[in-house]
Amino acid sequence: MVAGFALDLDHLLATPMFDPNRCSINFHPLHTYWAIGIYALLLWPARTRVWAIGFLVHMVLDYLECLPLGVYLP
Ligand SMILES: [Zn+2]
Repeated sequence: MVAGFALDLDHLLATPMFDPNRCSINFHPLHTYWAIGIYALLLWPARTRVWAIGFLVHMVLDYLECLPLGVYLP
């Protein structure tokens, strides 16, 4: 589960580093629907499953942060 927090590195690459009015999903390269699709595929092999779950949990948490902002994703 700790693996998902590695994606926070992606947040550090963002400029500005933190913007409370910004939705992380689709903003960071590792937070796009493409990336999420890849994480879903990683659920398949038992070897990468733990990582995939961590990544997907991270995406869900970022998404939940978007909701109070009134950001509705397509
Ligand atoms: Zn994130």
